[in-house]
Amino acid sequence: MELLTETGWAAPSITALPALADHITCDVAVIGGGVGGMTAALRLAESGADVVLLEAETCGWGPSSRNAGYITNSIAADPALLALLFRRSKVRALFQFAEAAVEFTQDAIAHRAIDCDFEKAGIVQAAVSRSQLRKARRNAKIMAEAGSSAEFVDGPDAGLPEGFLGGMREGVGGTLNPAKYAGGLRGAVIASGARVFEHTRVRSVADSGERVIIESAHGRVVAERALLTTNAYGQDLAITPRRLVSPVWTSLVETEPIAPERLDEIGWTSRAPLVTAHMILESYRVTPRNSIVFGTRRLETASGSLPTRTPSARVVDDLVRGFRERFPGLHDIAPQRAWGGWIGMSSSWLPVAGAASPNVLYSLACNGHGFAQAQYVGHLLAGRLRGDSMPEDLETIWHGRGGFWPSFVSGPALELGWLGDRLADRLARH
Ligand SMILES: Cc1cc2nc3c(=O)[nH]c(=O)nc-3n(C[C@H](O)[C@H](O)[C@H](O)COP(=O)(O)OP(=O)(O)OC[C@H]3O[C@@H](n4cnc5c(N)ncnc54)[C@H](O)[C@@H]3O)c2cc1C
Repeated sequence: MELLTETGWAAPSITALPALADHITCDVAVIGGGVGGMTAALRLAESGADVVLLEAETCGWGPSSRNAGYITNSIAADPALLALLFRRSKVRALFQFAEAAVEFTQDAIAHRAIDCDFEKAGIVQAAVSRSQLRKARRNAKIMAEAGSSAEFVDGPDAGLPEGFLGGMREGVGGTLNPAKYAGGLRGAVIASGARVFEHTRVRSVADSGERVIIESAHGRVVAERALLTTNAYGQDLAITPRRLVSPVWTSLVETEPIAPERLDEIGWTSRAPLVTAHMILESYRVTPRNSIVFGTRRLETASGSLPTRTPSARVVDDLVRGFRERFPGLHDIAPQRAWGGWIGMSSSWLPVAGAASPNVLYSLACNGHGFAQAQYVGHLLAGRLRGDSMPEDLETIWHGRGGFWPSFVSGPALELGWLGDRLADRLARH
């Protein structure tokens, strides 16, 4: 099997834009060209601001082009836990935010005519045990009460693969090819007149109170205001709030193409994209090339600067073992390639945005569910940078300038999560 350092999705081929090699000024500088930063730069440029986007590699190179491609209205924290910890109005506001993020992304695909294989398929949080089925029923109730498009689906009528007992179906969103989407968005940003510099890693950001000074290896930007959309990589910049982000490596595997009738034979007639209700979820989706992309299950941490890496063999072996257990009817299907990326976890496992200093805003909308949310937050933050009043959905995740609790994401904690999931699997088999 091929272990890739880049995305495994068919990415459109691009020629990198030149790096910053000058001293320039602008109204707003956006640092980090994932879907969040690109969306922010686009809104700012389209509203007439002089905007500069600085990206360490090429725009979309990070998780934005590597993810599993689920456009989901769920958020990383378990709905039951949210209902336990927060007031009903806060839970409702969080789900309203997540649903609006999906609508925003669907609109962007249509409005900008981005060719990205989007399928409005309705993701199913699918149960592989009786206890997960109870969890799905409870989560559907909590999300529906919070105004989310979610319903409980039971038994064989759901068109799920054998062994999946039912689950909670999200009524909005679906799947796409994230590399094609990120490539389309990059094209729109370049066409918008934003000045985009690639292969430009920002080394420091300093806010004098009057201006923001941004340094890279061969250039400097002096901006009125700046936005940090560096996601998991945020800890490299001293201006990023302490403990904002814990980086976690997530891996995906793709199989060889599978004859469609084989998927019908195992009962996966709905072709609905699936995630399980484990502590560390498993995901399984069919792609337009008739392969299955599956992932997560085991997460890894890192300290210091994040390396460009391939998935580790032990994680890939474990993912393939999981695939074999969930899909015995596809026992002969070979995995072909694996890749992964760094996701940024906040200590609350909720999306966060705020101000790192008077003139520098940040977002961390990821937690592994941020593909739509990062874009929506980028869009809302661009509005704030233009001087708009605070929209309700941004207020919901706004952290201001306060500190962050220590994160409980650590190597041993993630290992324990994995062990707990395997124990639950074993109990479900007996
Ligand atoms: C394997 C995997 C599967 C996932 N699956 C899903 C999914 O199915 N659905 C979902 O909703 N979410 C998923 N996610 C999460 C999702 O991809 C992210 O939430 C989303 O892409 C975050 O976008 P972003 O723009 O905030 O950040 P990123 O895409 O991480 O972009 C940040 C950018 O900043 C750049 N950068 C960093 N530091 C600097 C610097 N100092 N100077 C200049 N540039 C810098 C990086 O090069 C990068 O391009 C997944 C993530 C991974 C890794």
